[in-house]
Amino acid sequence: MSAPYPWLEVPWQRLLATRARPAQALLLAGPRGVGKSELALAWAQALLCEKPQPDGAACGQCAACHWFETGGHPDFRLVTLQEKTGKEGETRMATAIEVDQAREAVDYVQLSTYRAGFRVVLVDPADSLNLAAANALLKVLEEPPLNTVFVLVSDQPRRLLPTIRSRCTRLDIGLPPVDQAAQWRAGQGVDDALNLLALSGGTPLDAQRWADGSELDERLGMLEGLARPDQLDPVTLGERWKTVSPQTWHNVAYKWLGDLLAVKLQGRVQFNRDFAEALARLGTTADLAKLLALARIQANEGRTLAHPLNRSLQLQAWLIQYRHVFD
Ligand SMILES: [Zn+2]
Repeated sequence: MSAPYPWLEVPWQRLLATRARPAQALLLAGPRGVGKSELALAWAQALLCEKPQPDGAACGQCAACHWFETGGHPDFRLVTLQEKTGKEGETRMATAIEVDQAREAVDYVQLSTYRAGFRVVLVDPADSLNLAAANALLKVLEEPPLNTVFVLVSDQPRRLLPTIRSRCTRLDIGLPPVDQAAQWRAGQGVDDALNLLALSGGTPLDAQRWADGSELDERLGMLEGLARPDQLDPVTLGERWKTVSPQTWHNVAYKWLGDLLAVKLQGRVQFNRDFAEALARLGTTADLAKLLALARIQANEGRTLAHPLNRSLQLQAWLIQYRHVFD
C-alpha cells in the first residue's frame, strides 16, 4: 500500500521505517484537511497486518487486514467523538471525548492482545479529550503496556495537555505544495482545482468537501450579498442565511474578511479568486480598523459555533457591523 495521499509519501515512509520498533505514543499534528486521520489509519493497519510488505506497509490481503478494513480487528480501538441523542431524539456530535471513553481504552490495553502482534489505540481528534479524559490517558501513556501503540491525531496540538505532548513522538504533517494538491484534485475530476484549493486555504480534503456539498451554492449566495454592502439588507439576509450551517457560515465569512484584509494590506486575494474584482473595489473603501475589529470577532466566533443563539439575530448584528466597515 502506498501513502493514502500522494503528498503524505514522506511522512508515510518515515513511519514505515519504524515499523519494527514503532513509537509507543505518536502524535500526528498538522492543519485540518491534509489527511492525518487517513495516515493514522493506514499506520494502524500496517502495524496490525500479519503479512506486511517488505517496506512495512499492510498487505491488504491477510485476515488481520480484512478485520481491520471491516472495522472488526480486536486489537484496534478508535477513541473519537461520539454521536449523542438529545432530549428531543435529535442526534448530534459530542463536543468532547469523555472520561469514560478514555478509561475504557485504558482498561482495554491492560488485557492481553488477541493476536500475537501489536495493539493500536487511535485517539482522533486528540485535542477533544476533556481534562479528565486526558488525565486518564496520561497514566497509560507514561508506561504503555508492551506492544501497545497509541496514535494521537490533532489539528490543534497546543490544546493538548503539555504532559501528553511530552510523552509523544511528534510527526508534523504540513500542507502539500499547491501544485501537487491541485494535481490530485484535478485527478479526482473536479474542475477549477486551483480555485477550490485557494478557497480551502490549501488543504485538499477540505476542497473535496466544498466540491461535494451544496456549500458551494450557499457560498455563492452569501458572497453575492457581501460583495454589495451598500445594498445589503441585514434583516432579509439574516433570515435567509439562518439555515446555513454555522460551520459553513464561519468558513465563508472568515475567508471573505481575510480576503478584504489581504486586498487592503497586500493588494492580493487569497481565497475567493472568483470575487477578485469586487474585493479589489471594496478593499479601497473599507475602513481598516473596523475591518480588523470584525475579523477578530469572526475569529472568536469559531469557538462558539455550537452555541444555540438566535441565529438570524446573530447574523443581522454581524451584517450591520459589516456594512459599517464601508461607511
Ligand atoms: Zn495484511
